[in-house]
Amino acid sequence: MIIVMKPGAPRKETRAVIEKIKDLGYTPHTIYGKTRNVIGAIGDERGKIVLQSLESLPGVDRVVPILKPYKLASREVKPEPTEIRLAPGVSVGGRALLVIAGPCSVESDQQMVATAMAVKAAGAQVLRGGAFKPRTSPYAFQGLEEKGLRILRKAGDAAGMPVVTEVMNPMDVERVARYSDILQVGARNVQNFSLLKRIGKSKRPILLKRGMMTTITEFLMSAEYCLSAGSRQVILCERGIRTFEDATRNTLDLSAVPVLKERTHLPVVVDPSHGTGHSKYVPSMSYASVAAGADGLMIEVHPAPEKALSDGPQSLTFEKFRELMENLRPFIAAAGRTI
Ligand code: PEP
Ligand code: MN
Repeated sequence: MIIVMKPGAPRKETRAVIEKIKDLGYTPHTIYGKTRNVIGAIGDERGKIVLQSLESLPGVDRVVPILKPYKLASREVKPEPTEIRLAPGVSVGGRALLVIAGPCSVESDQQMVATAMAVKAAGAQVLRGGAFKPRTSPYAFQGLEEKGLRILRKAGDAAGMPVVTEVMNPMDVERVARYSDILQVGARNVQNFSLLKRIGKSKRPILLKRGMMTTITEFLMSAEYCLSAGSRQVILCERGIRTFEDATRNTLDLSAVPVLKERTHLPVVVDPSHGTGHSKYVPSMSYASVAAGADGLMIEVHPAPEKALSDGPQSLTFEKFRELMENLRPFIAAAGRTI
């Protein structure tokens, strides 16, 4: 149920409603809006009718059921978009387009520092790089782990950029959060519910990738796991889904962007690198993502893609990334955004 407070209702009335929700055995999630506060009462669906009685409390405008299975993620609970601050001057979900760039995997100091400098100069705001890699084959490069985290942090600091990296295991959340500004949940872990619950307790923003087989509703239910664990900072990432098509690595579902933007207040970014699997298709799908309303892009960039330890074929060279960023400008302007 959502308890919508009257515009300008005093804080103490909101607090009284919160207390009452707790008394009734539900968990309140308060969203302090510009004009009015809204409180989501989350708990057992079956007894929710008792919450209707809150309508008689002072300051309450109305009590309405949340129709969608995802509650805190839905626009019903929070109509205005969520803007997440990632670092001083860097945020996602507002007017400015966010660009995250960097290699698939952290490989060395030189590779990371060179990439950080190049992508920053081209206009990217966040540096990426995997230290724990979810590889299909156990014989493939698994990532530099803690050493990779240290290299990533150092490169981010050298370039003055916040960093994002993947966490694969609930037990590693704290360790990764010590190094990384943003925690990524990979496509293969989108329904790893213990990881989602654990990461939802972290104070770090979460970059949640859509699974290759998750529907939009399931994807939002995964975000709901993080939100219900306490996080208010979940960024959704469309990265392609599995279809019969094999000309591209995945089928980048760009229609998910407007659907997600309609259903949720959370920011939505697109990863055209994993979405297509081929560097030559990355620019066009980046432009299309911006046109579709994405709040950001995540793009794999490597100093020498042919030597990359993972995802070389889909990684852009520095030069190609600079070109992409340049050609992106008219699309950013046409979408009414800035960078
Ligand atoms: C990645 O970002 O390098 C990655 C492994 O992505 P995904 O989980 O979308 O496959
Ligand atoms: Mn990759």
